[in-house]
Parts: sequence; C-alpha cells; structure tokens
Amino acid sequence: MEHDIVNVAQTKQPAIFTQFMNLVKNNELSHAYLFTGEDGAGQFSVAMGVAMRLFCTNVQNGMPCGKCAECVRIMNYDHPDVVVTKPDGQSIKIDQIRHVKSEFTKSAMEGSKKVFIISEAEKMTTGAANGLLKFIEEPTGNVVSFLISKNRNLVLPTIISRTQVVEFPSLSKKLMVKELQPSGVKPSEVNLMISITNSLDQIKGWLKDDWFASTQKMLEKWFIYLVKDNTMAMPFIQMSLMPLITNKDRQRIVISMMLSLFDDVLETKYGTLAEERVKYPSILEQTKLAASKWRNDQILKMLDELLDVNKSMAVNVNFQNIIEALTLKILEISKS
Ligand SMILES: [Zn+2]
Repeated sequence: MEHDIVNVAQTKQPAIFTQFMNLVKNNELSHAYLFTGEDGAGQFSVAMGVAMRLFCTNVQNGMPCGKCAECVRIMNYDHPDVVVTKPDGQSIKIDQIRHVKSEFTKSAMEGSKKVFIISEAEKMTTGAANGLLKFIEEPTGNVVSFLISKNRNLVLPTIISRTQVVEFPSLSKKLMVKELQPSGVKPSEVNLMISITNSLDQIKGWLKDDWFASTQKMLEKWFIYLVKDNTMAMPFIQMSLMPLITNKDRQRIVISMMLSLFDDVLETKYGTLAEERVKYPSILEQTKLAASKWRNDQILKMLDELLDVNKSMAVNVNFQNIIEALTLKILEISKS
C-alpha cells in the first residue's frame, strides 16, 4: 500500500502530479487548492502525494519515496502536521475545523509546514466553511489546504474565490479498463459502464454485487421483445425488471442504460459504431436487426421518449407506470 499513493497519483493524473511536484520543488505552493472532478480521478492521492513530497526525507527523482518514516506516518494518518478531515456523518462540522486549527497552532512553534486535506468539502456546514475561511486568510505559519469536491457548484463561492481551483479530468477509458481489470470486469462490459458515468468509484460500487450485470441482461431481454414487436415486453417489466429497480439511484441508472442501448441502435444505423465501443455486445445481432428494421426517425423518436422519462421522473410519477408507458410508446413507434 505504501507505494500506492504516489503510484496512483502518477498513473491517474501524471500532468497534474508532476506540476505539483515542481511547485513544491520551487517553493511555489499556494495556501489553498480546490480539487474538483469525478470521484476516483486521483484527487486524494495527489493531495497526499504533495504532503509526502513536503516531508519526505528521501526524495527520489523529485518524487516522495513512500518508504521513509515521514512518508509512512502520512500514509497512516499519523503525522502531526498532515491532517485529513472527512465528513463526520452527513457533514463536516465547525468543531472538526477548530480541532485542526488547534492542532496546527500547537506545532506552529516548530515553524514546519502543515498540510490540511478536506475530503468531500461540499459537506462543510456554513460554520465550518467560515472557520476554514479564517484559516485560509490568516494561515498560522506555512499551511497548505487541499479541498476535494466532486462538484464545485456545491462549494461556497467565498471558498472558491480564495482557492486555486484544479479540475481533475476524468480518467481515459484505457485507464478505467486497467483500473477495473483486477475486479474481473471485461473490457466489453466497461463500455456500458463508462457510457453512464465517469466515476471509477461509482463503477466499483456497482461491482460489489451482481446488480449491474443482472440489470443489463434484463434490459437485453426487454429489448429483444421490442425488436420483435412482442407485447410480452409489458408483463416482463413488472415480473423481471421492476424487482431490480429498488431505489431512485437505480431508476436513473436504468434509464441511462436504456439510452445507451438505443444509442447502439442509432450508431449502428449510421454505421458509426466501432466494434470496440459496442455497449451491448451480447445482443449485437438484435441491435443490427433493429437498425435495419427501424427508420432513422423511428429510432430518434424512441430516444426522445427515453429522454422524456427524466421529466416524468421529476414530477414523481410511479416508476413502473413510467417504464410501461415508455414501452407501449416504443412498440407503437415501431409499428408506425
Ligand atoms: Zn519519503
């Protein structure tokens, strides 16, 4: 694990990490940074890597060694001058910020550098955010703060204006595949997943149980009914699909999965779907069948119907009703 943090930071965000290593080397770090971007894009690892670089006693080629006592203490969250704060329950409270402040004040005498890393910074209460502002504005000694948040729109503007915002780009598909390989995901399965999210953490969450794969299989069956104009698609929803859709999150994911399926059809119709990008490889024959059977305008209408589902969901209509209405509509368009 020791080496991992530097390794992860370097693999996921080579440009950003190198840039920060240079900032440390040239003594040009700012007081506060806001790292934004999808979960799992390396924000935390880069922040930890910078902390290690600041304290490492055995810097190798400009990188922290990951082995010396300082590096190890930081990685074990056991370094007095490097504090990591996460939400305590649903929020980061003012007391948590005060605690860090007093910790840092205690060791300020030594005049050493200090690093403050805040995960899920959007969960700071207003009190905590204000406490942090004071902290950033009158840094006791040599403090660098890293705020991490996947959504910069949720962070208070007063905080954003006092930090340097660094956007972490989403990981490339190639890197996602590589990261997911140890979990046993086939590259062909990754296509559908990354068509829905750029968040590696979210995908890893889906892999914990069989849900995603099961749902994909059910949607394939649903689609085959549709291609055959088979009204069995209707009872199938209640019997086989609905039991898998147990909460709002999953409702949204299922709609995205459906969109990706019809996107395969449309791209096949246009002849732009490269084999390595197929999202539903196991029903490719049916996708081709659908693309030859349905006209462009029919496929586009079906996609429109799917996009409209988001509106129905916003007004809180029963989800089974929504999917049944959608299915009827697609069957209707298919015969039009
Ligand atoms: Zn070291």
